[in-house]
Amino acid sequence: MHKSLSIYRRKLSHVCNLKPYKDTRWLMPNGNPTGLFVYNCVADQKVPVILSDPHIGTWYSCGPTVYDSAHIGHASCYVKLDIVQRILKSFFNIKLVTAMGITDIDDKIIKKGIETKTDFRTIAKQYEYEFWLDMSNLNIEKPSIITRVSEHIGSIEQFIKKIINSEMAYVTSDGSVYFDTSKFSSYGKLHKMQESGEPLDDFKKNKMDFALWKGKKPGEPSWPVSWGEGRPGWHIECSAMVSKVFGSQLDFHAGGVDLQFPHHENEEAQSCAFHNTLQWANYWIHVGHLHVKGDAKMSKSLRNTISISELLEKYSADTFRMACLMSNYRYPMEFSDQMMETAEQTLKNFKFFFKDVCVYVNNSNIQNGDYNDKLLDDLQKVEHQNLKFLKSDFDTASCINNLSNFISNTNKIIKADNNEYYPVPMILIADYVTTVLLNLGLTLKESKQDNVSGSIIDTLVDFRHTVRLNALTRKDKDLLNACDVVRDKLKAIKVQVNDSNQSSSWVYTR
Ligand SMILES: [Zn+2]
Repeated sequence: MHKSLSIYRRKLSHVCNLKPYKDTRWLMPNGNPTGLFVYNCVADQKVPVILSDPHIGTWYSCGPTVYDSAHIGHASCYVKLDIVQRILKSFFNIKLVTAMGITDIDDKIIKKGIETKTDFRTIAKQYEYEFWLDMSNLNIEKPSIITRVSEHIGSIEQFIKKIINSEMAYVTSDGSVYFDTSKFSSYGKLHKMQESGEPLDDFKKNKMDFALWKGKKPGEPSWPVSWGEGRPGWHIECSAMVSKVFGSQLDFHAGGVDLQFPHHENEEAQSCAFHNTLQWANYWIHVGHLHVKGDAKMSKSLRNTISISELLEKYSADTFRMACLMSNYRYPMEFSDQMMETAEQTLKNFKFFFKDVCVYVNNSNIQNGDYNDKLLDDLQKVEHQNLKFLKSDFDTASCINNLSNFISNTNKIIKADNNEYYPVPMILIADYVTTVLLNLGLTLKESKQDNVSGSIIDTLVDFRHTVRLNALTRKDKDLLNACDVVRDKLKAIKVQVNDSNQSSSWVYTR
């Protein structure tokens, strides 16, 4: 049997074996535990991640509505999702097949098209192009599959038709189609609600009912379907596109926490109705909001947004990612210069450490190298602790904190004045820390231009180090002052020098 078909069959069989988890509304899939635990809003607690094949997972992210430039709220959402995906792939050996939906038909896009006298398709294409450019500048991996609403009208029509036929949706006199929430007993499982929802209008049977299809309005783009003419509602598009790609069951479904209700609630309801199943998405991954310090919430309508290109003019993508790593994905993040400076300093400490290790292991003044069992034990301990942190709802903040403490303790040995020399454990430690940071999506790169000026700075810092050691031995104050002047001048051009008696190292601070 073709491999993907065999996976499919296993997935279908496991849907029939769902059982409630500790008296919650979340149903535990039947499959193989991965050892990971992730918070799920349906269970309102961390639940075990169980996959049919523990090394294969399916993932769908709700993508942007492409009507304007993306801002740092989008950046934090997609960087954090990228981090979670990388953890699944690199630390837990799960091959992820990822898809993202692009909303390229929507009220806001149509409105912008009318305002700017531009075809709505051109607006969508322009901002989608810009979105992928921003994502690439943030070192976010592109999804394996990209689905656009405009390319899936046929799948959406078929999806809605099946729900109408099962009498869980109804067509109204204006050609719209609504999902009948009174026919779906688990409506509200993602979001414990009192009667919210849009007010009852002339067409809805129940207050919570939502539009699967919007009947044609004059001047708006529309598509002919068997029950009339119009365009898809927002929620239906993701369900139809996911079902086309992944079938009747999905492992991970992700987006910003603002999508939990009503968007994901509605997606789950209509997809369960379509596939006649009790649970469609097994794991909901919701990213906490980003607030700009002092502002309630950043949104385009409040005009308090910072675009991704504005962000990257001031800070590197690595610095922003470090800030995201230091705030766990699920929690709100308060954006401020202070937060970014802390992230920059943390990143700089790692870079200093790598340079210091490099200088330390290449030290030609010491004769006898040694293994250091304690250092190797510490390394093993840190590896074990970090896996434990990441297994528990992707706790990157504790992982980074643990690594920071580890390099700071290791640094004390590097900087000590006792001629102790442990090249092997030092290389293994630097290798491990580098691998973890790269696996979390940091690039740790300097630009090409920086590489050239880097060799010049290397030479200057080496020379200054020799002069400084001589001056220290001879207690030559004038020469020491001259060394300080060089250090301060370098600092002014964003090169920070870190002195010790063993060596001097440096990093760019921008
Ligand atoms: Zn969606």
